[in-house]
Order: sequence, then structure tokens, then C-alpha cells
Amino acid sequence: MVKDIDWANLGFGYVKTDYRFVANYKNGAWDEGQLSTDEKVVINECAGVLQYAQTCFEGMKAYRTVDNKVVCFRPDLNAKRMADTARRLVMPVFPENRYVEAVLKTIKANIDWVPPYGTGAALYLRPYMFGSGIVIGVKPAQEFQFRIFATPVGAYFKGGANGVALRVPDFDRAAPRGTGHVKAGLNYAMSLYPIQEAHEHGYAENLYLDSATRTYVEETGGANVIFITKDNVVVTPKSNTILPSVTRRSLMYVAEHYLGLKVEERAIPFEEISEFKECALCGTAAVLSPVGRIDNKEQTIEFDYNNKGIGEISKKLYDTLLGIQMGLIEAPEGWIREIE
Ligand SMILES: *Cc1c(COP(=O)(O)O)cnc(C)c1O
Repeated sequence: MVKDIDWANLGFGYVKTDYRFVANYKNGAWDEGQLSTDEKVVINECAGVLQYAQTCFEGMKAYRTVDNKVVCFRPDLNAKRMADTARRLVMPVFPENRYVEAVLKTIKANIDWVPPYGTGAALYLRPYMFGSGIVIGVKPAQEFQFRIFATPVGAYFKGGANGVALRVPDFDRAAPRGTGHVKAGLNYAMSLYPIQEAHEHGYAENLYLDSATRTYVEETGGANVIFITKDNVVVTPKSNTILPSVTRRSLMYVAEHYLGLKVEERAIPFEEISEFKECALCGTAAVLSPVGRIDNKEQTIEFDYNNKGIGEISKKLYDTLLGIQMGLIEAPEGWIREIE
């Protein structure tokens, strides 16, 4: 029985669900792992995660499709990204095939928390790993815990008809150079201050420029960015210091192969964006959120469709991606994993 929740008005928050997956790494190996009803984590005061922030995470969603199947979107890409992140943070990789199995198992155990089709809500999965072993000298922990919890969520950004507003902050990208492509709490911790400042000034997020030259567009604190040119080319920044978003990669594929649009992944000077027609943020949480305005000091860039809702191409991209996820449009091979 699906839980009785006001799905349409659900925000992006934590709701305790029935089961979470827990596996432990000790003496150089991962144990079997198991589902647990205990949401509490107990660790030593000297655990690596507490002292040196040795922790990383992933974010994914499970949905109900139009024919009432419960599915999850491209979990293999999240498994691979978490493995890449773990290697960069000197953490043991939780094997990619076991990661996918554990995600499916966690969804299945919490199946009543997967929102009904058509509500716009989803069951958000949060796989994460942290150094649970004690460490006082600066070195990696020897023991780790991998967990996945599930929480039902609604929309992440509430932009309304105008789309969200962004600003270019005085801050450099939170990530120290070379770690911008990992999905890790350390990057988020460093972005909290600039995000709080952005919110105080009425912006949904910061749009970071590359920290080396402060010339090129990178991404926001928690989402990648795409632009549509006046000739309907879908453009997204190419940079090895941004997080390789599964949503962005999927949207670029959809643009090219479903909508027949030209796509470009390339360096984008900030100077160029005033020539673009549409702008949107993309990520698992954000899905595709239209951006109405970007402020950079005295300069304001407004996109064509501001005050008229989402841009035409952004809307097509959104509808096609959502259609694929909801089972309305045939998905490319391997994109949709059904929970049996
Ligand atoms: C998670 C995340 C994204 C979005 O990635 P998806 O795989 O699409 O969810 C973008 N930027 C950052 C910094 C992120 O942490």
C-alpha cells in the first residue's frame, strides 16, 4: 500500500522511511551488507569522516511509471561516479554491480514510499560512504561504512513562472582545484556560505566561474547548467572541474537523438551567455529548472522567455526526459532499471 502522504505538496526534505542498506569495510574487505531499520549511525569521536571529512555521496531517484512499474534511472552511472569519487578520496570502492544491487534492494524494501505516478514526487535515494575508522594523523581511515537511505521528495527549486535567479559570486568554486568532479560533502560544506549569501540576496544559487581564470562558466553549487543558443543549439560547459551530472549527460543525448538538435560541450566564456536564448539547471534533484536571470555585479542577463514560463527548447527537453523516465517514451537501452 502506497503511503498516505500529500505528495503534491511535498518539499525536498528528509522523511524517515522503513529500511536503509548498511555495509562495512574492515580488514581490507566489504562485508555482505544488510537492510536495517536503525537510522542512527554510531561512530568513534576520532572517525576519519569527523576529522578529515572523508566522505562522499550520490543522489538518485525511483519513480512509478505510467503502467505502475517502479523504476530507477541509470543507477550504473551513479555507481561508476561513486567509484571514481571514492578513488579520489582514498576510500575503498564499493563494487559497482553490488552498488546497483543494493540500490534496487533499498527501493524494494521501501516500495510503499515510492510516490504514485503523476504526482511529480519521487523516492530519492542517498547512497553515501564515510571513514568510520579512527584516524588522528593525516591519512585515510582503514574502516568505512557504505549506506543508502531513501526519502520521498518533491520539487527542489521553486522558481515559478520566472524561473530561478542566479548570481555570479565573488567566491571561487568551493572545490579545491582537482576535486570539482567528485560528489563529496567537502565541496558542499565550502559552498554553504556563498549559497546562504545568495539566498539572502534573493538568488536560488550561485553560478561559479572557473577559479583559474574566472572567465568560463562552470556550474552551480549543486547542479550543472545548459544553454540554448538563438539557433537552438544545446550548449553545456566542458570542464574537468565540474561534476559529471547524469541528468546533463542524459539531456544532451535526448537533445541529439530524440529532438534532432545540435549539441556542443565546450568552454563557455561568461561573456557569451548574454547571446543565449535559454538557460536551465539540471540535476537529479533539480531535474531541469529554467533560469530566468543571471546577475554578475552590475550586469543583468535575462533570458528571452523570462516572465513567460519555461523556454521552448527547455520544455521539449524536460518533457522528453520525463517521458522517458515515466515510461511514456521509449528509453534508450539500459537507462531504466525496473524493481522486480
Ligand atoms: C549531484 C550534482 C549535480 C547533478 O548531478 P546528477 O547526476 O544529474 O544528479 C551537479 N553538480 C554537483 C556539484 C552535484 O553534486
